[in-house]
Amino acid sequence: MSGEGEVQIMILCPYCLSPVDENVKLCPTCGEDTTRDALVEMIQEQYLNKERKNCRFCGKSMLKLAPLCPSCRKWQAR
Ligand SMILES: [Zn+2]
Ligand SMILES: [Zn+2]
Repeated sequence: MSGEGEVQIMILCPYCLSPVDENVKLCPTCGEDTTRDALVEMIQEQYLNKERKNCRFCGKSMLKLAPLCPSCRKWQAR
């Protein structure tokens, strides 16, 4: 278990919101160019508690905020 007061920051792809390396140029999950947009920083606890939905194309669970599905890589049209 992590110590008290320890905050783990996650770096996320701006499109599929999967965890990525800070210096990555292409998201290994969705393949998008992560240099075109700012990477998203989020506290791990927030990330784990974020609202999820099922992708409208493949039905897999994904973050509701993500514009791109990390499983089938389709953009979620509004
Ligand atoms: Zn991505
Ligand atoms: Zn999908």
